[in-house]
Amino acid sequence: MTNNVVTYDSAFENPFPDRITKDHKQEAFQVLQWAYRSYDDIVYACSFGAEGIVLIDLISQVKKDAAIVFLDTDVHFQETYDLINAIKERFPDLQITMKKPDLTLQEQASKHGDELWNRNPDKCCYIRKIKPLEDALNGATAWISGLRREQSPSRSETNFVNKDDRFRSIKVCPLIHWTWEDVWEHIRTRNLPYNELHDRGYASIGCMPCTSPSEDPNDRSGRWQGFAKTECGLHTGSPKDSRS
Ligand code: SF4
Repeated sequence: MTNNVVTYDSAFENPFPDRITKDHKQEAFQVLQWAYRSYDDIVYACSFGAEGIVLIDLISQVKKDAAIVFLDTDVHFQETYDLINAIKERFPDLQITMKKPDLTLQEQASKHGDELWNRNPDKCCYIRKIKPLEDALNGATAWISGLRREQSPSRSETNFVNKDDRFRSIKVCPLIHWTWEDVWEHIRTRNLPYNELHDRGYASIGCMPCTSPSEDPNDRSGRWQGFAKTECGLHTGSPKDSRS
């Protein structure tokens, strides 16, 4: 980590105040270059959605052996695992870790009952996503996320650099100004692999039991249908919020 860089515990002065330019790609590059210069231990937590593929492509041009973690809940679509293999072939130098939860699905069922996602998705997300990311970050000074402002009201005030109370870290979000069209233009222009489910009406893709097709790519309505839940908890709240 270089001197005088912003950390969770330092006085927070945003190094990238919100200056919207027309060139969202250049903006993202500048933020990523700053981030990799500033933090030796930075981790990209990638869900391998469409935004994730764009970020992988940009990150690989800034640091080709960057550390990337995928939260492998054991209930992802086969198409997602196929995409990860395709990305590993296209970007062989990236250090991609498949981070598993402490509990197998069977252990979770024995302890909390079958298909916990149908009864208490917050608890399931805590066990299978939030705790594993806490472990993967392991006190990292900063992490990267592909959040875009237009995705949902709860993401509309995300900045390039954010003080993240959830993981007591700095969260860097290079794509905040990108539109869904920007994302797909980049994927097409660079001929990047992407999840085949996008061609079958899925916009936001997470775990299989909690993901349905949705027409609007920006309202996350295909996630956790039947629950008043639009986030797994990685981008909201304080450490204790999702343990119940
Ligand atoms: S998205 Fe669904 S299956 Fe995945 S961790 Fe959350 S509740 Fe569990």
